[in-house]
Amino acid sequence: MCGIIAIIDDQPVAEWIYQSMIQLQHRGQDAAGIFTYDPKTGKHFLHKNRGLVNQVLTPQTLPLSEASWGIGHVRYQTVGDGSIEDTQPMVMGNDPTIALGYNGNIVNYLPLRRELESKGCQFQSNCDAEVILHILSSHLSKGRCSFEDIQCAVKEVYRRVSGAYSVVATLTGIGMIAFRDPAGIRPLLYGTQKGSKAVGFASETYALIFCDFRNLQNIRPGEVMFVDKDFTPYRKQLINQSPSYCSFEFNYFAKPNTVIEHHEVYEIRSNLGKTLAQKVKASGFDIDVVVPVPNTARPAAISLARELDIPCEDGFVKQEYIGRTFIMPTQGLREKAISRKLGPVYSVFKDKNVLIIDDSIVRGTVSKKVTFLAKRAGAKKVYFASTFPPIRHPCLYGIDFANQDQLLAFGRTNEEIAKEIGVDGLIYNDIQEFVDVIGIKGLCLACVNGKYPTNTCGSEELQKMRQKDIQTVERTAISGV
Ligand code: 5GP
Ligand code: SF4
Repeated sequence: MCGIIAIIDDQPVAEWIYQSMIQLQHRGQDAAGIFTYDPKTGKHFLHKNRGLVNQVLTPQTLPLSEASWGIGHVRYQTVGDGSIEDTQPMVMGNDPTIALGYNGNIVNYLPLRRELESKGCQFQSNCDAEVILHILSSHLSKGRCSFEDIQCAVKEVYRRVSGAYSVVATLTGIGMIAFRDPAGIRPLLYGTQKGSKAVGFASETYALIFCDFRNLQNIRPGEVMFVDKDFTPYRKQLINQSPSYCSFEFNYFAKPNTVIEHHEVYEIRSNLGKTLAQKVKASGFDIDVVVPVPNTARPAAISLARELDIPCEDGFVKQEYIGRTFIMPTQGLREKAISRKLGPVYSVFKDKNVLIIDDSIVRGTVSKKVTFLAKRAGAKKVYFASTFPPIRHPCLYGIDFANQDQLLAFGRTNEEIAKEIGVDGLIYNDIQEFVDVIGIKGLCLACVNGKYPTNTCGSEELQKMRQKDIQTVERTAISGV
């Protein structure tokens, strides 16, 4: 998973891009990068590196400039071993130079890469975004960059690339393009500013609202948008397919104040708590206190506790500056981080029957740890509830639960999962309840029902490669390089 922001304006944009990247930091913490372009001088600038936005972009590395077009990217690594070449924006060509930022995961990356290499394409990285860049770049060149040419290039991407991809790209001297895969798995929207020429694109609403963009609209699944150098916008629906929006964006990934497909994420999470409350009532569990795992599960825990008329307490203190642990690229790093990240408040747990609420159980790292902490703090009984249904299938689209055998719910009944975590009772929202709460037709639910919305050719090979990359990252982290 990643976050992207892009702005085309006639005023300097670097500062706005930087600030919006900070707003998107929760979507990726492995690396950050910015590309800017000044159409008056033709100069462009690229800086990217591993690390958080404010570590990578400093007054030394991001000089204030007059550049009025730009792309920013925060990366959560799912393909590649994390080297700087694998970070984004990725840049190719001279006339025009194409700088691209993308969010998603390409399922047929390896076969497609081999095919492109056999036709002479030279790859600079192990990042899957590069296959899209090669396809675009082979179709777009000086004198061949009209909106018709752009449509042909994007159609070619649709024809050859399967997976999830929301893309923004700057074509220097020409304009900016944005498109979303035919199923629209990852979000992408755009907005305009009152009284200015600027057009902005981003993964989440707040990154645009924060920069005063209004009139926000989705780039639709299968749609391409082009804003030319005179700020004239063009849009075209290239493929009409039913959408499959990632349901985990609502449940976990997006910020609570983000609006996806006209639904506010906070409100959805709060409603997911209400449905869990009905199941807790039916279970007959005797509960003294509800405790969320901070922070994603808080809206659900508050509404669940309100429905049941039970206190909701902040029983876990989170060490804020460690970062999101799930996003850590390897299980070893995740376990280390989580053990340093949460601490129990003893008075909340001592001699109580506790219901812990979390948004999901993936590998079980967090659920096992918080259960252990609650018991160590003196809880009599510990129950656990997850707003997301049991995850039994890998995500092929950029959320890092790639291998089935890593998933705690794979091959286990709810009773067996409860036993593994060490809780006295376990409740999940089931798939239909979850879908009813979100209230949107066209959700991807592949990780819970195994129905993948795209061709899955190449996925096994990709998962094997990911395993290898994880070992490299782990070795690098252990040796402290
Ligand atoms: P587990 O510990 O079971 O492997 O993962 C579930 C936990 O990770 C939950 O506490 C949830 O909040 C968190 N989580 C789930 N998905 C993601 C994700 O994509 N990114 C991050 N940072 N955390 C996640
Ligand atoms: Fe989202 Fe799950 Fe679909 Fe992956 S498989 S895109 S996490 S809903």
